[in-house]
Amino acid sequence: MEFSEAKKRIAFLRSELEYNSKLYYELDAPVIEDTEYDAMLKELTALENEFPSLLSEDSPTQHVGGAANSQFKKVTHALKMESLQNAFSKEDISAFTSRVREAVPNAEFVVEQKIDGLSVLLEYKNGRLVRGSTRGDGITGEDITENIMTIKSIPHRIDSGVELLEARGEVFMPKEVFLRIVEEQQANGETPFKNPRNAAAGSLRQKNASVTAERELDIFVFNLERSSNTFSTHSETLDFLKAQGFHVSPMYTVCKTDDEIMAQIELIGESRAGLSHDIDGAVVKLNSLSERRVLGSTNKFPRWAIAFKYPPETKETTLLDIEVGVGRTGVLTPTAVFEPVQLAGTTVSRAVLHNQDFIDEMDIRIGDTVSVRKAGDIIPEIIRAANHKEGSVTFKLPHDCPSCGEPVVRLSDEVALRCVNPECPEQKRRNIIHFASKGAMNIDGLGPATIDQLIDNGFVDGISDLFSLTKEKLLTLDKVK
Ligand SMILES: [Zn+2]
Repeated sequence: MEFSEAKKRIAFLRSELEYNSKLYYELDAPVIEDTEYDAMLKELTALENEFPSLLSEDSPTQHVGGAANSQFKKVTHALKMESLQNAFSKEDISAFTSRVREAVPNAEFVVEQKIDGLSVLLEYKNGRLVRGSTRGDGITGEDITENIMTIKSIPHRIDSGVELLEARGEVFMPKEVFLRIVEEQQANGETPFKNPRNAAAGSLRQKNASVTAERELDIFVFNLERSSNTFSTHSETLDFLKAQGFHVSPMYTVCKTDDEIMAQIELIGESRAGLSHDIDGAVVKLNSLSERRVLGSTNKFPRWAIAFKYPPETKETTLLDIEVGVGRTGVLTPTAVFEPVQLAGTTVSRAVLHNQDFIDEMDIRIGDTVSVRKAGDIIPEIIRAANHKEGSVTFKLPHDCPSCGEPVVRLSDEVALRCVNPECPEQKRRNIIHFASKGAMNIDGLGPATIDQLIDNGFVDGISDLFSLTKEKLLTLDKVK
């Protein structure tokens, strides 16, 4: 279905669903069958999955707060799933540790990564996973068992000797998967996920668990909430959970002094860029479980743990150029090219500018001083443009395709400009690259460089040509041995 058609259909389905839901629940006067209602809801969910940029908070598919059409049941947590107090400096950490030491003089702490994802509770009875739920407001969450079951690293069965086990973890989307999905969304002219956390939350709270399964989510379990086994320390529980087959918080270290704690926090901070997942801080927790009980909680936070938040890194640099590329679906994508800067451990010199609206909103001009940061510590983005040079103008995307020269079009309701020429060379090239890529056919050894050679030699013009390649032709390429 075309984007504009989908938009109309979605609007129709939403108003029908809302109207009928009102008739049923408020006026107790349904005019359609439940199955008809469910079918419309299902169709709407499918369309919103296909066109995520059309998904909005007020859609009937998103009414989970006890609304009648919600497919997520409410779960009341046996233990309150607390959130943590934040620390932003060494002083905040010292204040926390001295408060703890007042009650527990020889306190031992564990420092671990704070994974940036969605907090969930996993419940096992007699070794079987019986329920998975979201944190919600800490007291009441949503039953997402079906979706949780699709996450490969969550064991469905554990050592049957354990009668009761409740573990808390953070579901996240690995950076690699996130980047692949965002690329896909950009190629389709959709609004991409903002960061891996949004992507994980959106993927986990899907009505259709098979969509969740496709998103390749993962989990790190970071706390044993309740268990029929007894343990004396947090690090013991993590070792136990690991032995049961769970992915547990990576890099957990036991520390005594403030210096040791700060060194570990810094070490985690420096490792961020190289991690396969996104973190939004480090957590410092009291190791002894009995001492945790001594300290207890305020009405908001546990007194035995604190979250250290790393400051967001923003750099200023000069915008040198804006390059316009053509994606495999013909979408024109402007990319900012700036003086290289160091950000979150890597050198960055390019950032995607999405579309003309994005450029207009910030009034981006070549020669500007731009502020760059990494969204979710992964994707560089421009957040501000200043110091316009005299005589400069807001950058405008071209009227003609930079690859084939055909006029570009702006489809109604779309923010993107597209080249709609089916013979556009750059679109064809991108299509072949995508076809061979990991997210699609995953053809070993057929990377962009080899594909460029195949095209330049006239061996390949479209995907179908890949199937008629001969050994003789391939051996003439210098990248293939
Ligand atoms: Zn073109």
